[in-house]
Amino acid sequence: MLVTLDDIRRARHRIAGRILETSTVLSPTLSQRLGSPVHLKLEHRQATGSFKLRGASNAVASLSVEERKRGVVAASTGNHGRALAHAARLEGMRAVICMSTLVPANKVEEIGRLGAETRIVGSSQDDAQVEAERLAGEEGLVMVPPFDHPAVIAGQGTLGLEMMEAVPDAATVLVQLSGGGLASGIAAVVKGVSPGTKVVGVSMARGAAMKASLDAGRPVPVEELPTLADSLGGGIGLDNQLTFAMCRDLLDDVLVLSEDEIAAGIRYAYETEREVVEGAGAVGIAAMLAGKVRAAGPVVALVSGRNIDMALHRRIVCGDVGAAAQGSGAWAA
Ligand SMILES: *Cc1c(COP(=O)(O)O)cnc(C)c1O
Repeated sequence: MLVTLDDIRRARHRIAGRILETSTVLSPTLSQRLGSPVHLKLEHRQATGSFKLRGASNAVASLSVEERKRGVVAASTGNHGRALAHAARLEGMRAVICMSTLVPANKVEEIGRLGAETRIVGSSQDDAQVEAERLAGEEGLVMVPPFDHPAVIAGQGTLGLEMMEAVPDAATVLVQLSGGGLASGIAAVVKGVSPGTKVVGVSMARGAAMKASLDAGRPVPVEELPTLADSLGGGIGLDNQLTFAMCRDLLDDVLVLSEDEIAAGIRYAYETEREVVEGAGAVGIAAMLAGKVRAAGPVVALVSGRNIDMALHRRIVCGDVGAAAQGSGAWAA
């Protein structure tokens, strides 16, 4: 395996004290719906509002003294940039975050507030990546990719350790799937400690790059479209080194969701679980609400982030974003 259970256990020690160990709670209403216990891993309460702090902290903590002096650069759909900005600031390092115009303004502002330099380039994650590579080449910044990097995958995998400790008899683990750093790390842990437990990736139907790549048997480009699950946008990289193979070998299934289904997940999280969750964060809940998850025992669903624009959140909770917006992108700011 490309990133091992041992790598992930070491990452846990390395980032201890730099991240929160978030709680896992039983959801009585979702349990009733599925007829099996459903546990929610509340990682949207992580510092910086998403799990990305785990991978970014592990990557930063793994840098040499010389690399720290150079600073870090990344392309990001928002949450990785915010996490890297936070981790770099703790170390007193320079950080430059490159984003496309699809990244919501609330995320861009927060990254600036954390003291990182921001660059807005192009209309896709790929455009942002080109700019990040240019800066790495010209200014000597160290690239910390959002998912296809061993230290990042190992950091995200620490979530798997916490989830399996909280629910050792989990039959199914639901995990968000975009570039696949999160799913690769968690699946490496789950399959390592409990090979019979199913790991199911969940993406949005609009532009699910890893799903398309797994179906094609190789990394393929996918048009990036506006989606409520903006943190799941972007390709997996045509020269993907780690996450494509890990997801291919370790995931049992991949589900995709409509924009309506994602909106229903956000609304449910707020009204019933009393949690503010972004679109990407809500897809596990949304998949269960949509009847797409067959539970053969306890389910653990990751809630991965909360960095949603609050005006959009209000519109979703009020039901203004739903059936009418399906496929039209009419809600997109
Ligand atoms: C980045 C992100 C994901 C997806 O993680 P990958 O490692 O790219 O698959 C899911 N949810 C949130 C909130 C994210 O920020």
